[in-house]
Amino acid sequence: MAKILALLLLCALSATTWASPLAVQKVLQQHRLHGFTSPGTAIVQLEALREDAGPSAPLELRAKYHNELAMLYISAENTAKTEAEIQQLGRMATAEQCDSCRYYKLIREVHWAVRRQDGPAAQRLLAQLDALPAPTDRNLVQALEYWRGGVSQTVGDHDQAIMHGLRAAKLAQEDGNPAEQIRSLNLLLLANISRRDLKLAAQFSDEAYALAEKIGFTYMKAYVRANQAWIYSLANEPEKQFQALTDALRIARSQPGMADVELINLINLAEYHGSRKDFRQAADLASEAISLAAQQGKPNAKAIAMLLLGNAQVELGDVDRGLAAMQASIALLESLDATNYVIDSTNQLANVYEKLGRDGEALSTLRKATALKEAAITEERDKVVSAAQEKFSAERKDHEIERLSLENARHDAEVVARTWQQWLWASAAVAFALGGVLLIQLLNRTRSRNRLLENKNAALSEQSVLDPLTSAFNRRYCHVLMGQQEALIAARSNDRKQKPCVGLMLLDIDYFKLVNDSLGHAGGDAVLVEIAQRLQDLVRQHDTVVRWGGEEFVLVLPSTAPAGMLVLVERVLNVVGNKPVMVDDKQVKVTVSVGCAAFPLFPGQSWEDALQVADSAMYIAKARGRNRAVCVMHVDPEAQATLMRGDLAAADDAGQVVLEIVEGPQ
Ligand code: GH3
Ligand code: MG
Ligand code: MG
Repeated sequence: MAKILALLLLCALSATTWASPLAVQKVLQQHRLHGFTSPGTAIVQLEALREDAGPSAPLELRAKYHNELAMLYISAENTAKTEAEIQQLGRMATAEQCDSCRYYKLIREVHWAVRRQDGPAAQRLLAQLDALPAPTDRNLVQALEYWRGGVSQTVGDHDQAIMHGLRAAKLAQEDGNPAEQIRSLNLLLLANISRRDLKLAAQFSDEAYALAEKIGFTYMKAYVRANQAWIYSLANEPEKQFQALTDALRIARSQPGMADVELINLINLAEYHGSRKDFRQAADLASEAISLAAQQGKPNAKAIAMLLLGNAQVELGDVDRGLAAMQASIALLESLDATNYVIDSTNQLANVYEKLGRDGEALSTLRKATALKEAAITEERDKVVSAAQEKFSAERKDHEIERLSLENARHDAEVVARTWQQWLWASAAVAFALGGVLLIQLLNRTRSRNRLLENKNAALSEQSVLDPLTSAFNRRYCHVLMGQQEALIAARSNDRKQKPCVGLMLLDIDYFKLVNDSLGHAGGDAVLVEIAQRLQDLVRQHDTVVRWGGEEFVLVLPSTAPAGMLVLVERVLNVVGNKPVMVDDKQVKVTVSVGCAAFPLFPGQSWEDALQVADSAMYIAKARGRNRAVCVMHVDPEAQATLMRGDLAAADDAGQVVLEIVEGPQ
């Protein structure tokens, strides 16, 4: 109701009595307090006022006007218009000595780089922003904080993203700027997804959604709801995922100008139904998505929808048409140079061939996918190396800038570090409170972790914790166990005498497919049972053997530093490889490849990230000939960013980590 009144008022104002810049101001204020329905409709609304924001309007208002338009054009992915608005801000900065224009210009350039996922460019632009004198305008202070977080998120520094996101959310709330508050909460939800803290991600998303609903920010409502679907999919909560997807689709359809959001949700919903084996629904939704993608000129989305459609058609018995659609999808993705999607869809096609019993085609398709993947990994590594070199030379150029901003950065870092500690650990840290819900959520989280520590057994008794085949612990238990370990380590992180850590080993049986091929699936199962038993007999009482999946095991080794893991891993390789496994009356020689890493490798690391490093180490062991272990002995602080990207090999090439190889028995 208030919104309708405001709109009516707005029409009346812009039509007659008031001076025209006021109309611009009203719309900007409206966006701040209530957001907008979609970038498309907001652009139409603001473009209609272009003359009112002409040279005779106050400079500050014009700066805000062009900044808002640039933001909207970036959201609408309109390159030409984005560049035009950014140039306009640049002209005003120099020709009219408009300081805020200088900030807005750089902020939108950062935004644009983040939108293009160009981390290095975003970082360079952010350094330029930081080199400007600290702004006094609260809106700029808030925007800077938000984009520091946005850039951190883009380059994979999720903890920094959270710290800046929290500060940005706090500033927006204090300033009565709910639209920006919602964006900051959305950043916090994304950063927590990246850290795989799905519970916290869900809490931030709930808050963002509630606020978007309260102020009537339809676009962000649909956006956040779609992100919630993502959280639920990762958390394996299909009912909630379905509900969120359906809601997001409904919101997108309820308003004009949201066809892009509608398209994304259609595709996700098609994927959802496909994964639930409801292929009829999947096919219908995918078909709808294909025509919408064609209308919007989005070949990428079209190709993905075609893949989903093809897969569903095959499952529904329309094999030829389905395979043709999948092949056409792959060809389209190839023409777009969308390598990751090509690899993914080629793998899926190989699976479909295999299911159809067309082994020859399955094999050649799988080989193609593997070759593509290898090429992509090499290319990615080259890119990382050249980006590092580029950064090095850019850094020398920017030396002066950096020196100037260093003092600021140091001050910021100290404040953040202090604030963060308090937020997390002191329930009386009201001085740093985000005012209300945010603080309570963080404290709740800390409390619930402590609770987890206290009654671990109670938490576990509800559901089974053992893998039915091998009687090793299952993955779910591993999550609970590592959650406890993480909390313990955080609680003891200030202990100078003894840095606590947990040894993690990831084992993958070598050439296990061949075992299955020669002994049958039941034979393969028998091997898994025997290997699990040997591992169980080997480890100490407080160590845990987890069946991580298929033929992969994880050993969780509390209080085991890298040196200790070297000793143990040799025994692991021997206990598996020294004695053949007996299946019926056949002898089977089994070996494993192992990756080891001690968690945490650096302060604040999540255990999942540490396990990811162990996984990368395991892959290096595979590549170096299998039947061996690769252990991460030491990690330089500089290696953190590389490791966050999951690229242990690159960190090794750069000399940022020390790896030790232990060979298995001959
Ligand atoms: P490498 O480790 O050297 O990469 O080769 P691999 O043969 O092990 O390759 P990959 O890891 O891809 O294959 C694992 C195989 O394990 C595929 C799957 O059929 C089989 N597998 C997964 N789970 C089970 C299970 O529970 N029982 C049996 N028998 N086989 C399984
Ligand atoms: Mg495997
Ligand atoms: Mg294997």
